[in-house]
Amino acid sequence: MSFINKFGKTTVASSILAASVLGTTHVSFASGSGEGNQGQQGQNEDYMAIGNTKNPKNVIFMVGDGMGPAYNSAYRYYADNPNTKELDQTAFDKYLKGTNRTNPNDPKENVTDSAAGGTAFATGYKTYNGAISVDNNKKPLKSVLEKAKELGKSTGIVTTAEVTDATPAVYAAHVDDRDKKDEIAQQFYNDKINGQHKADVILGGGSKYFGKENGNLTDKFQKDGYDYVTNKDELANSQSDQVLGLFSEKNMPLQIDAPQSNPLLVDMENSALSKLEKNDKGFFLMVEGASIDKSGHPNDITGVMSEMGGFEKAFQNAIDYSNKHKDTLVVATADHSTGGLSIAKGKDYVWNPEAIHKMKHSGSYMTKQIADGKDPEKVINDGYGFEFPSKQMDKVKDAAKELKEAQDKAKSEDDEKVAAATTKLQDAIQKPINDESHTGWTTYGHTGEDVNTYAHGPSENKFAGNNDNTDSAKNIFDFFNNDVTSNQNQQ
Ligand SMILES: [Zn+2]
Repeated sequence: MSFINKFGKTTVASSILAASVLGTTHVSFASGSGEGNQGQQGQNEDYMAIGNTKNPKNVIFMVGDGMGPAYNSAYRYYADNPNTKELDQTAFDKYLKGTNRTNPNDPKENVTDSAAGGTAFATGYKTYNGAISVDNNKKPLKSVLEKAKELGKSTGIVTTAEVTDATPAVYAAHVDDRDKKDEIAQQFYNDKINGQHKADVILGGGSKYFGKENGNLTDKFQKDGYDYVTNKDELANSQSDQVLGLFSEKNMPLQIDAPQSNPLLVDMENSALSKLEKNDKGFFLMVEGASIDKSGHPNDITGVMSEMGGFEKAFQNAIDYSNKHKDTLVVATADHSTGGLSIAKGKDYVWNPEAIHKMKHSGSYMTKQIADGKDPEKVINDGYGFEFPSKQMDKVKDAAKELKEAQDKAKSEDDEKVAAATTKLQDAIQKPINDESHTGWTTYGHTGEDVNTYAHGPSENKFAGNNDNTDSAKNIFDFFNNDVTSNQNQQ
């Protein structure tokens, strides 16, 4: 497989350039200019102490899928302690560095999907919607994870979606269409770098793509020394440095709905870090809060807040790790925004997160329960934390009946009428919580605004200002190409 990588050609020159640029950056950083909010954190001494003029050895790249700026602001309201006067900062706020532009290079669409957005983050190239790390001519593009593996670093992919979903896939697979999930799983196993599987740690959902129907990939990984785990306890007890963890058949359940046996995003991240950090040459780890987007699509504000909470925990944990391991850079950003979330709707200047705090289950969870044949009234009463209007309950029951009829007639799993009836049911279930919280939505798809970028650790200022989504990968390639540790070890 031949890769396009214009960054690899300029190692010596860019090394000198990067060293001088970084040196300058950190001189001004240490002297406190232009880093006001970091100075308050007492971080200047940390950076002075390690004389940090080199690139990060380890990179934790975090993607809040669909986490547009409205999501970050809404979560600030939601997570606020109501007993204090001012709106408290989230874990993200103090690490805000800038924004990312997200537009794809698609012949028809100028708002990105997660495949084109992920490809930009992973490879430094814009491409068409649906592309998994291939360019517009369907040629493979090298990912930062593949570069890390070439350099002998350890590598990991952690997500709450299927591990074959677009955002994780772009790091270790190359296919022309994101729906080719069997092929993506096959490439995870078959495609090797220096005789090794590309990702040492693969954690998330999507077991259906690794079983008998797709060549028993779990067995094959185990034969090659990987632990295969399917729940939180097994993950905690995993001893091997390499692990395949698949915790659900498809996407993992949302944090608010998940059984205790399910690992949370932060559990998976911790397990990944404990394995990857054993390699002296460092690591690259991608961590995705996937279900922020998957809740945004059906306009499920309860699900969105649940998953923002899960992603914030994982982010804070990565920051804590970086504070203890000074050679680790943490970057968190989003690939796009989803749903056109708005913080208030109607004529009132009010958004009411208290209503969301009362909810016991996400709208998506209640929809699935009713779609699977459970009694609508019982599901709603168990999932809602406040009085559900009786007129609306009638609408839910009608929608449930319509869905049942569509299901009975449907010939395939992705029948269009079933999908439409499911959307109608979910809208009916969620109307009271969207109204009560004053949450507005404009679409079931993505929106094109710039997204926030947060960073902490060596070279964090490379992510400052308004950047292109491809710049994240370009920075990481630069760090790895000029990584003194791994380049020495290569020779
Ligand atoms: Zn999406």
